[in-house]
Amino acid sequence: MSQDAGTDPLIIRRLEFIGGMKEALGWRPPSELPEIAFSGRSNVGKSALLNRLVRRRAIARVSRTPGRTREINFFRVNDQFVLADLPGYGYARISRERKADWRPLIEGYLGRTPRLAGVVQLLDIRREPNEDDVSMLDFLSALELPTIVVLTKADKISRAQAEARTAALASGLGVDVDQTIRFSAATGEGRDELAAAVSDLVNKAS
Ligand code: GDP
Repeated sequence: MSQDAGTDPLIIRRLEFIGGMKEALGWRPPSELPEIAFSGRSNVGKSALLNRLVRRRAIARVSRTPGRTREINFFRVNDQFVLADLPGYGYARISRERKADWRPLIEGYLGRTPRLAGVVQLLDIRREPNEDDVSMLDFLSALELPTIVVLTKADKISRAQAEARTAALASGLGVDVDQTIRFSAATGEGRDELAAAVSDLVNKAS
């Protein structure tokens, strides 16, 4: 949780919004740098996590702009990698057809990005993964994409409960506990661990 630049695994020197992708075959940034995608259902805490990760509010500001909430928003980080903020899926208040809207865009992007270095999949630590979460994880595993599972809002339960939930979720999803990171945007828990995991994926891909 250190804010000390000397130990920060991901120091953000530059962060630049480079555009949004609206449909599966629509505009996307040129594939020059490794890309890391962030995925999760609406309200899982993705904006809060991204703000913590990059230590600025720029991402939430862009991604919440009307018209951009259903796009994939791309940010170039340090001229080192591209961060792809996927639209939150499965918003409960929209109809079943609208719910399915995210699939062609998200799956099209994930399936057609040769420089995709990995995906950070967010799950609320207190909730059971729903159908959409499971289908996303299955899709990532079918594509053999390196996946980091982040369990968000860890501050909402006790440490003992958080440990039990981590073990239960990992075993239910068939992933190793080591592949999961407990995260809290409220306390900063997990920020540096996530930053290190993202840097690792980027360095492996560079
Ligand atoms: P998004 O839709 O996935 O981008 O979710 P947001 O980041 O907007 O968060 C949804 C709600 O959960 C907001 O009310 C946040 O304040 C809250 N939230 C997000 N992360 C955390 C967290 O780590 N701890 C707590 N207590 N609340 C959080």
